[in-house]
Amino acid sequence: MKILFVAPEAAPLAKEGGLGDVVGALPPHLEALGHDVRLVLPQYRGLRTTQPPRRREEILFVHTGVGVQFAAVAETELPGSKVPVYLLEYQEYFDRAGIYHTREGAYPDNHRRFGLLSRGALELCLVLGWIPDVVHVHDWTTALIPAYLNTILSGTPLGQTASVLTIHNLEHQGRFPVETFPDTGLPGWTLRPDGFGDVGAANWLKGGLYHADKLTTVSPTYAEEIKGPVGGCGLDGVLRFKAADLIGIVNGIDEAAWDPATDPHLPAPISADDLSGRTVAREALREEFGLDPDLSRPLFGVVSRLFAQKGMDLFLDIMDRFLGSTRAQFVLLGSGDSLEEERFAAEARARPREVGVYLGYNERLAHLIMGGADFLVMPSRFEPCGLSQQYAMRYGAIPVVRKTGGLADTVLPAEEPHGTGFLFEPILSEALLEVLLRAVDLWETEPTRVAALQQNGMRRDASWGASARQYSQVYEWAAAARRG
Ligand code: ADP
Repeated sequence: MKILFVAPEAAPLAKEGGLGDVVGALPPHLEALGHDVRLVLPQYRGLRTTQPPRRREEILFVHTGVGVQFAAVAETELPGSKVPVYLLEYQEYFDRAGIYHTREGAYPDNHRRFGLLSRGALELCLVLGWIPDVVHVHDWTTALIPAYLNTILSGTPLGQTASVLTIHNLEHQGRFPVETFPDTGLPGWTLRPDGFGDVGAANWLKGGLYHADKLTTVSPTYAEEIKGPVGGCGLDGVLRFKAADLIGIVNGIDEAAWDPATDPHLPAPISADDLSGRTVAREALREEFGLDPDLSRPLFGVVSRLFAQKGMDLFLDIMDRFLGSTRAQFVLLGSGDSLEEERFAAEARARPREVGVYLGYNERLAHLIMGGADFLVMPSRFEPCGLSQQYAMRYGAIPVVRKTGGLADTVLPAEEPHGTGFLFEPILSEALLEVLLRAVDLWETEPTRVAALQQNGMRRDASWGASARQYSQVYEWAAAARRG
């Protein structure tokens, strides 16, 4: 099949979050399955290409509601692959330091920027005469595309092209004042309540959900949660309406960048057959944070953004009781909300031999924590997929997580035969404390079961290959739905 990805991010070219990881990782795996996959991204300033992109001769005349906009096109490849990446060049919109925002907030013309990307990507297909069977779009920024295909482009060769929309995080929806909607160039009737209309606003994601042939999200449990009023962020009605077209597919991980057997950030290699490297990493971690070097104490770790989603306030609320009633130690790598940062820093000052805190971003330390901590704590309020728990399992750190979204789909309860970690469900610090105490108890009393949990996690298949096969199936369904 011919598959076009249109997205605001693709790692490592331009990345801000998990969406960028997926868009960077999935295309080469689809190519390996025999698909012709190409990508369209904006030509941002500071794009991390290995070679300078090659300027193509085509000039695009992009018809948006703003008028006809002329965009140039350059070409490169996804680093480490042969997947072609077309870069849409429009300096006024994309020659900026950020992808979506500055420190002060979102760019005020985001609706025009991503409108141009979406309409321009389709114009490029027409100009190249390369008509994809499926366009795969991601979150709100490219959610206009399914609607363009269904309306103003339905009489062009792209009228047969199916669309698949992936929800990476339902919290971000692209809500704009209705007055901006004419800039998209979409017919006014698409602003109906069963389209982009959303109580006085134009909601791009909502319209995309209605117009796309198939919807996916990044784990089966999150696919269920977003159909309910709590997880639905106001769009649960649409998602229930489209439930038969919504499929959850768990993200794989980059197994080369996160390979404990060859990781240059670890002091010694680690594998499921030889866990001795973990002892070396645990010693290094304790030394780095100046903790009591007694290896008989269980070490809990966190690598996380510090925002309400991640639920670390639940941990803060019981931290004193937990550390006061056990021999556990704790290290945290994270940054975000300044109040949470300050509370963790205060804990580290109060218990310098038990608590280590690094506020900031540090790739090396993230790897060392996965290799050296005995447990990784992730009490997320919601978690569409989650990568950290998957890295932890691969490195032999046992995840202690809330049973939500991708955490529920990737961590198997310790009581089960192939268990890999500990789960709790109510969003309550008491429930977290209870599961942490169970983890400490197991650690102190049943080392062979602890090793079994670690090895189960390390042997788990987290590759992109399995996910790519599922996406391939979704593309088939989308194309069939379009033809039918
Ligand atoms: P989210 O994308 O919601 O932040 P994920 O678990 O999907 O959560 O991915 C988080 C990624 O960011 C992981 O790769 C994790 O190691 C990394 N990360 C988060 N905070 C830090 C930090 N302070 N330093 C280094 N890496 C971090």
